[in-house]
Amino acid sequence: MLAHEVRLKKTSHSGRYGGSVLSKRDYYEVLGLDKQAGDDEIKKSFRSLARKFHPDKNPDDAEAESRFKEIQEAYAVLSNPEQRRNYDMFGHEQPGGSPFGPGGFQGVNVSFDDLFNGGFESVFSQFFGGGGQSGRRRVRGNDVLIRHSITIETAMVGGEEEIEADLLVSCEDCNGTAAASADGVKTCGTCSGQGRVTMNRKVGPFLQQVVSDCPECNGLGRQITDPCKPCRGEGRVQKRQTIKFAVPAGIGDGTRMRMSERGEPLLGGGGRPGDLFIQISIQEHDWLQRDGSDLLMALPLGYSDLLFGTKVSIPHPDGEDIEIKVPAKSSPGDTIVVRGRGFPVQRRRRRGDVTVLLKLHVPDKLSKEAKKAIEALSDEIGVADDLVENLVKQEARRRRRGG
Ligand SMILES: [Zn+2]
Ligand SMILES: [Zn+2]
Repeated sequence: MLAHEVRLKKTSHSGRYGGSVLSKRDYYEVLGLDKQAGDDEIKKSFRSLARKFHPDKNPDDAEAESRFKEIQEAYAVLSNPEQRRNYDMFGHEQPGGSPFGPGGFQGVNVSFDDLFNGGFESVFSQFFGGGGQSGRRRVRGNDVLIRHSITIETAMVGGEEEIEADLLVSCEDCNGTAAASADGVKTCGTCSGQGRVTMNRKVGPFLQQVVSDCPECNGLGRQITDPCKPCRGEGRVQKRQTIKFAVPAGIGDGTRMRMSERGEPLLGGGGRPGDLFIQISIQEHDWLQRDGSDLLMALPLGYSDLLFGTKVSIPHPDGEDIEIKVPAKSSPGDTIVVRGRGFPVQRRRRRGDVTVLLKLHVPDKLSKEAKKAIEALSDEIGVADDLVENLVKQEARRRRRGG
């Protein structure tokens, strides 16, 4: 299992993490780009779309206004390397919620002029300051997402799982400090350890204050004067890891389990590692289909089994065979509910059901004798011509009642 190549699929499961995000468009799609787009392409596409939908050009057009906001949001994220990385990994459902804060993206006032002069860049560069001018930057490594599939049996009764993955871990030689000795780390003089610097920039006729990562220490606030050799001053090394974790009984498909601080340590040492997320998918079962806490299956039976009733015993993921009692005079399409043999209902002491749909099995081949015997019975087991109309009506009535 490989870590890192972890782009989330766009499946209906993504709706589980919050209803409103379902309708949110992919940022790349918004800008008409593919995921490999370079910074220049992103900028170019933003500029041309922003000009097209700018409110100055589309007065009193609500549609254009919302497109303009959408384009800005997509650009704010994709033009920021750290945010883009997060987005590539988690999509719209980042752990910790929207990077723009609880209220989501609020839009910015980019003037039409800015779009020609490039003034928009400094507007967007201030979005993800982690507190902006005030306070220190939160220094933390990247989160990592690993996708892992489990059998329906494990999902049902729970169990221990193990994943092998190559992950970045704290360097043992320097204890993750990146320095070979205790004196090998210094507070960055350029930013006085703050990790951020404020610069004055001329944008058109205005002087604008721009806060950005300290170029000297890459925002870490510290500098390594005597780098640790085994990790080349990075404070972290790639290592094969065995990750063991417990899967709770009744886990849902798409559930993300979080392992605090098991993600990437910060490049350059110090800080806190990110978190490790394991996203669980449940493998298909040979005959059972999951529907919430219930399980569905189809059971093909012969005509005589339906007519006279029968008992069928079949292996079940909970470890105990399931016994299906088919009553006499059953019809194809009837369902039998086996109570309490579905998935555990989370946070309740109860299990869902197994719904068995009865089907009629029609054999491919029949011997001459069998054909003859059945033909001889067709008067009794078939449908006489004068009964057809009545039966059709009956069936229609039954369907209307929902039976
Ligand atoms: Zn080291
Ligand atoms: Zn610095």
